[in-house]
Amino acid sequence: MKVLVINCGSSSLKYQVFNMAEEEVLAKGEVERIGGKNSKLKHKKINLEKGEEGLGEVLVEEEINNHKEAIKVVVDNLVDINYGVINDLSEIYAVGHRVVHGGEEFSDAVIIDDEVLKALDKCKELAPLHNPPNIAGIEAAGEIFKNSVQVGVFDTAFHQAMDEKSYLYGLPYELYQKYGIRKYGFHGTSHKYVSEKASKIMKKPVEELKLISCHLGNGASIAAIDKGKSVDTSMGFTPLEGLVMGTRTGDLDPAIVPFLIEKEKMDTNDINDLLNKKSGVLGLSGISNDFRDLEKAAIEGNYRAKVALDVFVYRVVKFIGSYIMVLGGVDGLIFTAGVGENSPNVRQKIADYLTFAEVKIDGEKNKIKGETKDISAPDSSCRVLVIPTNEELMIARETKRLCD
Ligand code: ADP
Repeated sequence: MKVLVINCGSSSLKYQVFNMAEEEVLAKGEVERIGGKNSKLKHKKINLEKGEEGLGEVLVEEEINNHKEAIKVVVDNLVDINYGVINDLSEIYAVGHRVVHGGEEFSDAVIIDDEVLKALDKCKELAPLHNPPNIAGIEAAGEIFKNSVQVGVFDTAFHQAMDEKSYLYGLPYELYQKYGIRKYGFHGTSHKYVSEKASKIMKKPVEELKLISCHLGNGASIAAIDKGKSVDTSMGFTPLEGLVMGTRTGDLDPAIVPFLIEKEKMDTNDINDLLNKKSGVLGLSGISNDFRDLEKAAIEGNYRAKVALDVFVYRVVKFIGSYIMVLGGVDGLIFTAGVGENSPNVRQKIADYLTFAEVKIDGEKNKIKGETKDISAPDSSCRVLVIPTNEELMIARETKRLCD
């Protein structure tokens, strides 16, 4: 069974084609600058025999006005005689779409029909920047892949297992009822993928495991996973809550917002921009949101870079500590995403705080970057695992599961 996975942003469309029998990627690519001038497509056919990417990389530079035109250009390449991986569109049995917000409507992936599209429309106001392009992608793919099953896979769905005490804020209950203001959590597809992989590595069913999954990328979140279900997570109503991130504040005293509105004469756009794009380790360091730059600057003695890293690590540790209590212990601590997979330094700094819980990593094993590895010390109280995330594969798996 071949599955096409599509992830639509407001001006981009990323895609991968999977052969689900072997879970292999056959082709992948990205359309950039949709709706702007100089739109661009990068398409790669994967050379399976050599196990390397790039039998062909095609750059198409032309104006691509909307997501439907983007999918058409992708399709042209998928059936291309040199770079293609299918002869005919009907070979794509199903299209799996990443959808950022499923609200309370969706606690699992879903086959898309008219009813689902209506429900998705209702979730739009919860993610006004992300859901509209996701829906545009679904509608466009539906028109082009007329005979393929369309599946929506939600970033929020995995966290719908949380119960009220985790997801309610200390606001008047009526605001939850009126607007759906509650914690939803994000990165669910990633947390689910790495927790399933951890269960394989640990040779125990997820139902028998207490896991803490740290997705540390430019956007970052932590999930407490008990028996395969998310019981708490650090992101909230939006992806702004929780950890200090690349450019987002994470948790802060809400009273700072009206204070700034008054002092700096800010409006809602200014505030959103400040909290989402100018804060986090970028705002703290004044240097970069990229941890490679920060680590280099900190080694060279830059005070603000060091402080930014310290604040980031400290916040992660506080969440890990509270989730150990929430779960009543932990069997596996997982590091994933750009920083979690690639920064031995950040992982070591986090582990240095965890000696009270006897969570220990092995300095030698911790040297790895971007590969799956058990980095626990022999006398660690729980397994510490580095697991590269693969949200696209998880979307393809969920899509296949619904079609089986
Ligand atoms: P997102 O998907 O949220 O954009 P990623 O999971 O791709 O984020 O993570 C991107 C981040 O990973 C970069 O900002 C960078 O800081 C970090 N990163 C990548 N490689 C390394 C590395 N070798 N050392 C430290 N940090 C790294």
